[in-house]
Amino acid sequence: MINKAIRQQLELLLQSGIKEIYSPPDQKGQQLADLAQQYQSCQKCELSQGRTKLVYGEGNPDAFIMIIGEGPGASEDLSGRPFVGKAGELLTKMLAAIKFSREEVYIANIVKCRPPSNRNPLPEERLACLPYLLEQISIIQPRMFLFMGLVAAQTLLRSNESMGELRQREHLFQNTPAFVTYHPAALLRNPNWKHGAWADLQKFEKRYYQLRES
Ligand code: SF4
Repeated sequence: MINKAIRQQLELLLQSGIKEIYSPPDQKGQQLADLAQQYQSCQKCELSQGRTKLVYGEGNPDAFIMIIGEGPGASEDLSGRPFVGKAGELLTKMLAAIKFSREEVYIANIVKCRPPSNRNPLPEERLACLPYLLEQISIIQPRMFLFMGLVAAQTLLRSNESMGELRQREHLFQNTPAFVTYHPAALLRNPNWKHGAWADLQKFEKRYYQLRES
């Protein structure tokens, strides 16, 4: 039922003209900053009750690559920035391994407020927050996505497939190539998955250079 609601919400937003917003690169940063400010007091879902800071997203407003995770953890909630703390350090290393810096990409999450005890965001919380992410995407207009973790991948790809299945192939999200890999926090808990994550990143890097040249 909720999956159906998420699907309908996505379809409505995609059909609503949001994709037609065009912002020159030098205006995108201001537009994102204005929206981040506007949403600071959002109370659309229960996650607002426990947040310290809303974590809107950060990075290059004109990024070729957009990285999307699940939601803020404790460090992110305190700082108001995505992917900080140990998981953030690992993300920075993962990007460096394929020769990217954090400053080149844009990083955001499915939900912008921390779920209690780092549980997965509930379907209704994802549904409430999704318009903010879709709005960011419509402004940034990335040419590639990297979805980190099952929640991000299943929500955006409208899929019930496992990580193993989702990581196997390239996807399309809003007609843009999208790849799936493990969330850095999951890699910290399961270091034996790092080999698989490295393989995912290599596939991602190879595709990046193909798209850059096309
Ligand atoms: S998670 Fe998203 S929808 Fe829910 S309160 Fe935070 S910003 Fe609003």
